Amino acid sequence: MARGLLFVISGPSGVGKNTVLNGVLEERKDMFYSISATTRPPRRNEVNGKDYYFLTKEEFEKAIENGELLEWALVYDNYYGTPRKAVEERLDKGQHVIMDLDIQGAAHIRNNMPEAILIFLLPPSREELKRRLLGRKSEAKAAVEKRLAYLEKELASIDRYDYVVVNDILENACRKVAAIITAEEARADRGYWREQFLT
Ligand code: ADP
Ligand code: 5GP
Repeated sequence: MARGLLFVISGPSGVGKNTVLNGVLEERKDMFYSISATTRPPRRNEVNGKDYYFLTKEEFEKAIENGELLEWALVYDNYYGTPRKAVEERLDKGQHVIMDLDIQGAAHIRNNMPEAILIFLLPPSREELKRRLLGRKSEAKAAVEKRLAYLEKELASIDRYDYVVVNDILENACRKVAAIITAEEARADRGYWREQFLT
């Protein structure tokens, strides 16, 4: 059986990564969303084990030491990382995996798993990004500024991605991400056709 495909989605804070991913996963219930570990405190509506595994700094550093993370990075003063085991198990079983990573995590995956498909989600404008980030009301003013300040660095890394999707109208963005997944599955060199063509 062919190994599953690994999709990485990145984009500035507040662009709508979680919202778009929820829309895509609603249509693609066969895919596995990799739940990250983080030391950032949970937001009001976030659930441990669903949105993130919320760890203390000590727990996170222990996970790094034990080699339990596929990649990890310090993002806006907190640790974020991908638990290795679940991702490897799913890919080995032939299931597609999708993960939401910052530009450092995406660069790490690109170097170590070159077969991964990297998608960058872009806001329609800087103003709209700010509006969404402020509208979410999840961070204090200083934290919002810190997240917005990262934007230029993020834009500069776009040429290391395979696809760019603008999240203007939500349904269109979800449809485009789903179309990328479908197109990647149909590539001859991925070999999925072998499982569909009965000899
Ligand atoms: P991220 O995961 O990239 O930080 P979120 O998914 O939390 O971003 O979205 C940030 C805010 O923007 C949320 O309030 C969300 O409802 C809103 N949002 C997401 N996509 C769109 C869109 N296409 N149009 C308008 N608002 C959006
Ligand atoms: P947030 O705090 O808004 O949920 O996420 C902040 C940033 O951390 C986003 O850019 C998101 O893509 C990134 N992120 C979330 N999980 C991971 C992870 O496991 N690894 C890395 N490198 N970045 C992550």
